[in-house]
Order: sequence, then structure tokens, then C-alpha cells
Amino acid sequence: MGQLLFGFKNLPRQIENVDDAKKLIKDFNAFVISSKKTINRVLSHLEPGEPVYFLQECVTKILNRETNEFTDFTAFIILTDRRLLIIRSISSEIADTVINIDEISSVESRVDWTDKISFRTKSLAIEFGTSAEGESIRKLFIFVVGDEPQTTNIDTTAKTDSTATVVASTKKSRVVVCSGCSATVFIRGDVSKCEYCGRYVE
Ligand SMILES: [Zn+2]
Repeated sequence: MGQLLFGFKNLPRQIENVDDAKKLIKDFNAFVISSKKTINRVLSHLEPGEPVYFLQECVTKILNRETNEFTDFTAFIILTDRRLLIIRSISSEIADTVINIDEISSVESRVDWTDKISFRTKSLAIEFGTSAEGESIRKLFIFVVGDEPQTTNIDTTAKTDSTATVVASTKKSRVVVCSGCSATVFIRGDVSKCEYCGRYVE
């Protein structure tokens, strides 16, 4: 309890209701703009007990790297111990985006008017603005996506008198900083190419 992870208190969190969500959003230095109804819709995408590391409503840009199609909208960005969810603030015909963390291949932060986080998957390039400090959010991404050994305590609150189930995740990826542009690259094989500057990293 009370543990600080890159300056943020008590991460990950169990988000069970709108108040939990609002508190986490505020702890990332942001105002809550959306309605209770919208937040409830967003939270309905979480699995029961899914631990949340980051939750914020952000201006988000997605480039489909295969079709070059570009979209720009406001969405809730939710980073959990297993997925990154991009849930549009305004419910639309366009599907929300759900990315498993092992699909994330690199992450970068930059300051341009506001702090911005960008990351890549094989098919998408995504950038969102954050009111939190970008470099801290990048470190949070590295912690969740990278090779930190993680243990997730799942409170079963079961009717049995057993306490908690501990699930240890496997090693996910190797974290390498590109010597060309200092982007963080997650390597899952022996070698990878930096998606920001094209340099090979190993
Ligand atoms: Zn690079």
C-alpha cells in the first residue's frame, strides 16, 4: 500500500466503479470531463479484477501503417497488466481498439505543446497527449510491457477461506534503448529494427 511507481501512488488499481476511475484520472493530473454514463461504458470493457496502471481521456491519433488511414479523436486510454484499450469518448460505429501488450513493439515520449506518448504495433502507430509527465508514462509503459518480472495479486474474495491467488506472468520482452534516437524498443526475438529511425537494435 502507498507504493509509488514512477511518482504515481498505488499502482496498479482495481477500478470497480466511476469513483475509482475518477480518482485514478485525477491522480494522473487530469480533469474528468466525461459523464458517468460514458465512464461506465468505458469500464465495461475491463475484465473483472483486471489491474489498471493508467487511465486517462486523451486526444488520440491512430495511423494504420498498412492502409495509411489516419484517425484523430478523443478516447480513454487504459493500460492494464495485459492490454491497452482505446475506447472512444463518443460512442461510434468505428470499433474501439484493443491491443495485447505483447503486440506493442516500441514506445517514445516527446513534449510538443503537451506531453505526448507514441507507441507502435505491427499495424498501428498511435500517439496520445497526456496531462501527466510524459517520461513517467513512458517508464510506466516500459514497466508493464517490458521484461520486469511481474506478479499480479488477484484478490479472489471467494467464499473459500483461501487468501489470494498469485499469478506470475512470463518474461515478455527485452527492453532496449535505440542508440540512434533513444526510443524504447521491445525486442521479442534476437534483433529488431527501430520503428522511429530505422536503425537495427539488438
Ligand atoms: Zn531509433
